[in-house]
Amino acid sequence: MVFVIADQHLHLERGLYSPETYPVSWLERYLETGRARGVGRLGVVEHGYRFLEAKGLLPGAWAEGRCRYHLEPYLSFVERVKTLGLPVSFGIEMDYVPGAEAGIERFLARYPWDFVLGSVHFVDGVGVDLETDEPRRLEMGTGKLWQRYFSLSRDAATSGLFDVLTHPDLPKIFGVRAPFPLDEEFRRTAETLAEAGMAIECNTAGLRKKVAEIYPVPAYLAAARKAGVPVSLGSDAHEPENVGYGFGEGIDLLRSYGYGEAVHFIGRRRIASSI
Ligand SMILES: [Zn+2]
Ligand SMILES: [Zn+2]
Repeated sequence: MVFVIADQHLHLERGLYSPETYPVSWLERYLETGRARGVGRLGVVEHGYRFLEAKGLLPGAWAEGRCRYHLEPYLSFVERVKTLGLPVSFGIEMDYVPGAEAGIERFLARYPWDFVLGSVHFVDGVGVDLETDEPRRLEMGTGKLWQRYFSLSRDAATSGLFDVLTHPDLPKIFGVRAPFPLDEEFRRTAETLAEAGMAIECNTAGLRKKVAEIYPVPAYLAAARKAGVPVSLGSDAHEPENVGYGFGEGIDLLRSYGYGEAVHFIGRRRIASSI
């Protein structure tokens, strides 16, 4: 067993970061904040939809407007960092979209990522966490949004493409709850994750959102623990100051539901650390 807390969900995409230059100094600022907060290992991801090589895998105008960069300069940066021996794993955060599995698989095969985060940000083309999509969410109906979200989460797990299910109850982001109990969805999804050998993410970004709580809700975490699903910890920071954000609260929550360790990944191999 390794004794190090890993922040397994970090984005470099703001500040000094540029898809042309990728300065290592920007990454070093993440490491610095991490060290100050007891985070000894970083898991850096890029959003797959930003890369031209993944064009169309996440359909819709929103993703198309963000699909601008070639993968190659990013991979050169990753290789450069690897030669420095820093405690950083490199992954990718991919949207699960039904029907796009083969394309996602082809894109993932372009590089030996340390880990792949699987996310559901869109439900049938409607943005779950986009403020501007609120009218579309209302049109779909809150109940249907939640139901489809869990159904897609299970499909993501059975696809076998991902190592971790991220921010697992994202539809609560704006404080809108499901109009029915979700215990059955939690149980079914947790069991599907266990069968797929996937981890669930304890994501502290929710503390910085309108909902002001960690993803997932305690009942979902309890279901995951009962099903034997490993957990990873992630701040989903998009800037250095949020590395390890809320990890004290996150770790307390995990311990209170019986989790004594969290996982990180190297070469898609899961490594457990005490928390
Ligand atoms: Zn995400
Ligand atoms: Zn993210």
